[in-house]
Amino acid sequence: MAASFDLTGKTAIVTGANTGLGQAIAVALAGAGADVALVGRSSMADTEAAVSAAGGRAKTIQADLSTIEPVNRVIEETLAFTGRADILVNNAGIIRRADAINFTEADWDAVMDVNLKTVFFLSQAFAKNLISESKGGKIINIASLLSFQGGIRIPSYTASKSGLAGLTRLLACEWAGKGINVNAIAPGYFSTNNTEALRNDPDRNSAILGRIPAGHWGQPEELGGAAVFLAAPASDYVHGIVLPVDGGWLAR
Ligand code: NAD
Repeated sequence: MAASFDLTGKTAIVTGANTGLGQAIAVALAGAGADVALVGRSSMADTEAAVSAAGGRAKTIQADLSTIEPVNRVIEETLAFTGRADILVNNAGIIRRADAINFTEADWDAVMDVNLKTVFFLSQAFAKNLISESKGGKIINIASLLSFQGGIRIPSYTASKSGLAGLTRLLACEWAGKGINVNAIAPGYFSTNNTEALRNDPDRNSAILGRIPAGHWGQPEELGGAAVFLAAPASDYVHGIVLPVDGGWLAR
């Protein structure tokens, strides 16, 4: 079975790879043998070093994913890097917090654009390349517990992540027959920039911790195994799932 988790010779694209979950996923994929194109707006120096230390080649692709303008270039620059693009991890995402009654159009659009619109069009560009070369591949969308639950004070985030679960299923249905696996991971509460405000609020922090059966906030490295599984041959017959990695939160 060992070979089923081997990514040697594959090239992965990871968006938002400079920090947090994206960085941990990039390093985990490199550890399984992949080369990694790191896509984002910020310096990827830390992630480049960590990917190299894990044994993969890394290339940074500068792109602001708040519009779909860069999606074709991301694929072109990845192909220029290694000649192939086998795995796409749609990780870049943002969150805006305010009561629904006061939520602004700007906070609605900003979140939907990064978390849902660009994810769709980057996935489309990625799949067009695979289909033109008659090759299979893997798309992994980073969803959320808010793909299953409502939450509070994050209306555009919940809408985007619930939409992403549906989009994952639709793309799986359209592309499974072409050898492209489309799945998602739903991280629970992980210790990253995204959740800093929650961890700094003593009431929210203890309420969240008290509901996690595993008893601790997720550490980004704890997401790597699920990403490797969904990127590897081991998951070739897995299509359209949203895999929670949440310390047992949803089981509660
Ligand atoms: P983070 O804020 O540390 O990382 C977000 C990443 O997205 C960063 O690399 C950022 O630069 C990138 N990004 C944001 N807007 C971008 C843009 N316009 N163009 C390019 N890159 C952009 O947070 P994180 O927790 O690592 O989040 C990663 C993903 O995981 C997000 O989709 C988030 O919604 C999801 N998620 C996180 C948690 C958690 O507990 N941390 C839980 C569920 C889902």
